[in-house]
Amino acid sequence: MAAHIKIKDRHILNLAKLVSGPRSILYKKTDLAAYDCDGFTIEKYLPRAVVFPQNTEEVAAVVKYCSENDLPFLARGAGTGLSGGAIPINGEVIISLTRMKRLLNVDLENRMAVVEPGFVNLKLTHAISDQEYYYAPDPSSQYCCTIGGNVAENAGGAHCLKYGVTTNHILGLEVVLPNGDVIEIGKKGIPDAPGYDLLGLLTGSEGTLGIVTKITVRILKKPESKQTVLAYFDRVEDGSQAVSDIISAGIVPAALEMMDKIAIEGVEAAAFPVGHPRDIEALLLIEVDGIHAGIEEQINQILEVCRNRNVREVRAAKNEGERERWWANRKTGFGAMGAISHDYLVQDGVIPRSKLPEVLSKINEISQESGLRIANIFHAGDGNLHPLVLFDSRVPGETEKAIEAGSACLKVCADAGGTITGEHGVGIEKKEEMRFVFTDEEIMAQTAIRKVFNHDNLLNAGKLFPTPGKCAEIKQELTKA
Ligand SMILES: Cc1cc2nc3c(=O)[nH]c(=O)nc-3n(C[C@H](O)[C@H](O)[C@H](O)COP(=O)(O)OP(=O)(O)OC[C@H]3O[C@@H](n4cnc5c(N)ncnc54)[C@H](O)[C@@H]3O)c2cc1C
Repeated sequence: MAAHIKIKDRHILNLAKLVSGPRSILYKKTDLAAYDCDGFTIEKYLPRAVVFPQNTEEVAAVVKYCSENDLPFLARGAGTGLSGGAIPINGEVIISLTRMKRLLNVDLENRMAVVEPGFVNLKLTHAISDQEYYYAPDPSSQYCCTIGGNVAENAGGAHCLKYGVTTNHILGLEVVLPNGDVIEIGKKGIPDAPGYDLLGLLTGSEGTLGIVTKITVRILKKPESKQTVLAYFDRVEDGSQAVSDIISAGIVPAALEMMDKIAIEGVEAAAFPVGHPRDIEALLLIEVDGIHAGIEEQINQILEVCRNRNVREVRAAKNEGERERWWANRKTGFGAMGAISHDYLVQDGVIPRSKLPEVLSKINEISQESGLRIANIFHAGDGNLHPLVLFDSRVPGETEKAIEAGSACLKVCADAGGTITGEHGVGIEKKEEMRFVFTDEEIMAQTAIRKVFNHDNLLNAGKLFPTPGKCAEIKQELTKA
């Protein structure tokens, strides 16, 4: 054990020399405890150390050192990931990108901005909103998650129905490869550059192919006008049918969100209650945007669709303040579960929109069988469900039950012709569920790609695919010590 600590100290001393600035490395157990998990809190492991590089050169130097010394390592942004992607399951050296948080350039003429990976999503919109521009991908965690983490997870958000998820807004990346080499990919907005689409491959690769150190993003002109409609339904089936009817009517809302009864109980008990009735079964928030002239007509169509589906109450926001309050209430959705349950597990399946009523009723059956309440909050317009399994980890066996119920929800989504994640990634949480949607051959084809980039499997091993990694041995060594 003593020998092991000595070795560990040597690496920590060497790593400390590679990163500048105050407290640029953490290595004491008490400090490391804050990094033992991310937004997926069911599994916890201490990292070997956490380093805080200030620029690409420092990231590359740390990566090279880890690679040459067989030390597992991984990147971390804000740690809001919900599938355990930033959890150091192999006792990794965590490379935190939070000190690389500069907005490097804004090019309004070409509608692009360049940011460092630790730049917080919402700050980009704040920085350019005076000039009437914004950054479209809006995960509910946007006030704190980083654009580097968004790239790794290909994050989505309420307004991705109309504007597309992160991958549709990334024009170029600078990446430190797992051997420490630095490459640039994407031709900053030039469409159809020759060669493989590495930009597409890296976006959503969950930090398993390289560490992103610079990001060129697309920025959009703010829509001239927007309006939001709120609709309350007594039956979930009517709410679900209204979702399909809105899309079938040819309307492309900027956002089309749904919450069920338990979710409403949560958001009304949390930070931004707005007085939603507690006895309805479903609520829809529907936002349209564009030029002034078309908005009113779309709103009228939406009101009509909802009325035809037995809506209890439906109306457009009276003013901008009310619109903002409705969205603030919706965006507390996940965290709000903390107000009504000791613990909760967020799931993230995708289904064809038309299967919404059928899938929701199966999720209800899972809830009854497991004896656990399951709330549903979802980006209904694109069929991205978030069943939230409520449980109490203090009750023996309940955590395991919640994991099983979450997995069963994903099986229902896969069986309905959907898939096991829409935006939160696979991480460690859904590795085994990858088998619901991919054959062994398909998984092998993907792991072969990882091997090309991440040959020694030192970068974020044991995530995304159900494969054993070299790091399992290192983990054993650490556990023994
Ligand atoms: C309350 C709440 C609401 C949420 N709502 C949404 C939502 O609406 N939509 C959505 O998509 N997600 C949502 N999430 C999940 C999460 O915020 C996103 O996945 C986000 O993209 C993670 O960013 P992060 O900076 O926290 O990354 P982290 O959690 O730190 O890391 C996530 C993964 O990215 C990798 N990574 C991080 N930075 C880099 C980098 N620079 N280079 C390479 N890999 C990197 C990590 O290794 C890890 O695998 C929510 C989370 C919470 C807690």
